Amino acid sequence: MIFKILRYEPQRDEHPHFQLYRHEPKPQDTVLEALKDIRDQQDPSLSFRYSCREAVCGSCSLVINGRIALACRTQVSDLGSGEVVIEPLPNLEILKDLIVDLKPFWEAYRRIEPFLQAQGDAPEAGHRVEEKDMERVFQYITCILCASCYSACPVATRDGRYAGPAALAKLYRFAVDPRDRRPFSALERVDGPDGVWGCDTVFRCNDVCPKDVRPADGIEGLRRKLIAGKWKRLIGRKP
Ligand code: SF4
Repeated sequence: MIFKILRYEPQRDEHPHFQLYRHEPKPQDTVLEALKDIRDQQDPSLSFRYSCREAVCGSCSLVINGRIALACRTQVSDLGSGEVVIEPLPNLEILKDLIVDLKPFWEAYRRIEPFLQAQGDAPEAGHRVEEKDMERVFQYITCILCASCYSACPVATRDGRYAGPAALAKLYRFAVDPRDRRPFSALERVDGPDGVWGCDTVFRCNDVCPKDVRPADGIEGLRRKLIAGKWKRLIGRKP
């Protein structure tokens, strides 16, 4: 098979370019395994990220034959017998070959304070949560921070200040967690065009997410929470 892989080393190359590799993958190989074999057997300079190899760490998200996908979860045999085209995540600066700079993604994520803010000391047995409450939260817990949604989002692409789908969905995850006691003002930080109102609702994030998080649902949920909180404030109640 032919693997057409985007190569780019900013210090050396003027432009990104494709390099062709001939490689015969084993029947069950994933794209990640093929990449590792090409690197080990043909070209040690080929650079890409990976870690867990089982769709948990989120580090091997790439564009494979035009679709954003985890390399460790994409079987080469599912891609037909022709060419396999592999590119880095779009709309992020290429550091080298298939490795992009995820700084904007992580900075947006850090800004929403993505950790449980419970009140008081944690009880010895931990904070208990009803199963029905966990059901609302669970969808968002499965996020593996692969940045696929951020990279695919047209708003994040044109406006670097936009928080992006993963960060907003994670904030919603804490907003509906009964253990979390962050104030309403924490949600108000995303009450603007850089936050939930910047979303164009084109649902690219839902389409590309390898874990079915559906980040757009979280953004919609945050919008509802913000409107409800402001309404409460108007009628003199605590949001
Ligand atoms: Fe990846 Fe989905 Fe999390 Fe976005 S929401 S970072 S696509 S797992």
